[in-house]
Amino acid sequence: MNTTPIKAFGTYSANEPLQEMTINRREVQAHDVEIELLYCGICHSDLHQIKDDFGGTMFPIVPGHEIVGRVTAVGNHVKNFKVGDLAAVGCIVDSCGHCEYCEEGIEQFCDEGVTYSFNSPDKVSGGHTFGGFSKTYVCNEKYVLQMPAFENLAAAAPLLCAGITVYSPLKHWQAGPGKKVGILGIGGLGHLAIKIAKAMGAEVVVFTTSPAKVADAIRLGADEAVLSTDSEQMAKYSRKLHFIIDTVSAKHDVNTYLNLLRHDGSVVLVGLPPEMLEVHAFNVVMGRRSFSGSNIGGITETQEMLDFCFEHNITAESEIITIQEVNKAFERLEKGDVKYRFVIDLASL
Ligand code: NAP
Ligand code: ZN
Repeated sequence: MNTTPIKAFGTYSANEPLQEMTINRREVQAHDVEIELLYCGICHSDLHQIKDDFGGTMFPIVPGHEIVGRVTAVGNHVKNFKVGDLAAVGCIVDSCGHCEYCEEGIEQFCDEGVTYSFNSPDKVSGGHTFGGFSKTYVCNEKYVLQMPAFENLAAAAPLLCAGITVYSPLKHWQAGPGKKVGILGIGGLGHLAIKIAKAMGAEVVVFTTSPAKVADAIRLGADEAVLSTDSEQMAKYSRKLHFIIDTVSAKHDVNTYLNLLRHDGSVVLVGLPPEMLEVHAFNVVMGRRSFSGSNIGGITETQEMLDFCFEHNITAESEIITIQEVNKAFERLEKGDVKYRFVIDLASL
């Protein structure tokens, strides 16, 4: 298959700084769309993967799965995109298309293994996929999203992963009027979860380890915000919440939060702490509670989320950086020093 060399930013090994490199993108196939990239958000998953936190990272790695750009070429059979359109790519760029999960539109659980936008075996071109810290992206139009004309396009890029990752469980566990929803951890995912849960009509209680974020969570729209290290404040929420979206990226005690659930409630983990988490039997047995998880969302639901956020004027609180500032940004993300998402302006690459 013919390929084109393009500029990208990535790393050849864990703990080495990211640097400019050349990668190859396949030439546009009949069903493919080529996008010139404008912005790419920085997700904590990018950080986990470049550090090889879960093992199995394929180097060299080019991260980035919150991708927004403009269509520059389309294959002969492409129906839904034309040159010049705004377009976006999230975490999923391929799947088998015929298993029960793909047929149901939950490609993230594809029986044959979904292809992620980076660090996945590339079933079309061979090798592995490279993400959005790059000049272009090429993939089948089935996995390309129609990007609504957000006024601040850069700030909308984080919706492509952070947005769908919280939208999907908020919808699945039925956030809405009469529901009291907890949001645990106010980073990229957590701050969007506040905005989306409020737009769905739920009552939102935030739990944060950062004193400075207590007031900020209210500014972002939360009804109540609790410093989770304050046991007196925490005790007030015992058995009060219908469910909790847990976005914490590191090891933490989920038992504390199981105890804040009403009967039949669930702590829904979307964060990916590399370490095992322990659940005490009584915390789930009593009250028929559950500890569950959720992984991004399918393509149809991602489009629905983009349209919902456009309608409700929801974007991420973003700090726009150049590609040259990316290593510094990862250092700050690791320390929790970001309000609340870095977004790379790819004109700098
Ligand atoms: P982020 O911006 O770094 O936010 C994570 C937040 O977790 C922090 O802001 C902090 O919030 C809290 N936190 C961090 N370390 C903690 C600790 N040791 N104890 C308690 N709280 C801690 O990260 P993100 O981009 O939102 O991603 C969050 C997690 O979700 C990552 O693990 C990421 O890989 C994962 N993720 C999963 C999916 C999925 O599909 N399931 C998709 C995207 C990302 P406070 O300061 O408020 O306490
Ligand atoms: Zn992500």
